[in-house]
Amino acid sequence: MIPVEEATQRILAAFAPLGGEIVALDQALGRALAKPIAARLDHPPQAVSAMDGYAVRAADVATIPARLMVVESIAAGSLPVRAVGAGEAARIFTGSALPKGADCIVIQENTTRDGDWVTIVEGTHAAGRHIRATGNDFQRGQVGVEAGRRLTPSDIGLAAAMNWPWVEVVRKPRVAIISTGNELAQPGEDLLPGQIVASNGIALAAFVASCGGDPLNLGIARDERAALGDMIDRAAGADLLLTSGGASVGEHDLVQGVLKSKGMDLDFWKIAMRPGKPLMFGRLGAAQQGLRVIGLPGNPVSALVTAALFVGPAIARMLGLREVGPRVVRARLGCDLPANDQRQDYLRAAVVADADGLVATPFGKQDSAMLTALSRSGGLVIRAPHSPAIKAGETVEMVLLG
Ligand code: AMP
Ligand code: MG
Repeated sequence: MIPVEEATQRILAAFAPLGGEIVALDQALGRALAKPIAARLDHPPQAVSAMDGYAVRAADVATIPARLMVVESIAAGSLPVRAVGAGEAARIFTGSALPKGADCIVIQENTTRDGDWVTIVEGTHAAGRHIRATGNDFQRGQVGVEAGRRLTPSDIGLAAAMNWPWVEVVRKPRVAIISTGNELAQPGEDLLPGQIVASNGIALAAFVASCGGDPLNLGIARDERAALGDMIDRAAGADLLLTSGGASVGEHDLVQGVLKSKGMDLDFWKIAMRPGKPLMFGRLGAAQQGLRVIGLPGNPVSALVTAALFVGPAIARMLGLREVGPRVVRARLGCDLPANDQRQDYLRAAVVADADGLVATPFGKQDSAMLTALSRSGGLVIRAPHSPAIKAGETVEMVLLG
């Protein structure tokens, strides 16, 4: 058994960022940015008004009331045709270009209008007021979004504002998924006696997609060497193969043996953690191009917890993300916990936020087959090997889920 930290390091060391591809901006949400996005123009491109009102010379409105002649009206998108002289004003709207001569916007609410004349009746007005200077938001060449993060809706808005119709993102890692077990039936099927529903394949595919990968759910392989071997062959071309089940030492646990017979270079297969002790990592094929294989435990909770701890970071590394996760935060414990043994525990916990931060209360039952508790968990409270007993209210570290 190796410690969690060492397993994480060995897995991360085996993955490198994949190549890039160009996608249209409307396809870029959630994708990992491969090249920084730098502005192709200044924004705003010229000084504009931030409010609806009047463009004036600040000196003319230093004392109020001040009565000025309105010389033109500048709608957004049309350019001013003349300068604002002494004693003059231009009607202006949010986003309209500032006319020459004007250095201050008086908001509409502070004025009264009478034909071609406007009277400034309220407020104090200084040069620069309510004006967005050229390049106030960003200047040509300025980097708006750094490479190595997944694009959010605001990143996409910024890329568009920087005048890019497309961006270069990292290709999605292809992740093949094989479920193993004679007892498994697809969700929705009528179950024969002795069968259970296979939930891991579909859950892992969803997890992979949520990490930014491209899941290829190959289906269920029976616990037979030939069937498993054939399905493994179908994973060719993937960047990562996930298997679930068949990972421990029973006579029906064939995953490791079949992979080894295909030439897999085994890195490790046991981690000192709970849930998820039987977790295998290896490489099938040449050192550089070889298919990485992570053999996950069959228990549904173990499969998803180990995916969060090891598969998520592996995908993040392939995406070139700067933060590979999993996200660990501090929380206060909602109940007492006993001392821990030699395995690192990841306790499924209900998480609530109060005025002082997060409170995590591990569920009483920590059965690694219980998906209900996992589905209700906001986090996994980490209990290091040999941790002493701990009281409610003390601080713990927790993997944030979702
Ligand atoms: P195994 O590692 O194959 O012994 O599987 C451990 C436990 O997980 C057994 O109770 C299996 O029935 C269960 N299991 C294996 N694969 C799946 C799956 N895809 N969905 C749900 N449960 C599974
Ligand atoms: Mg099995």
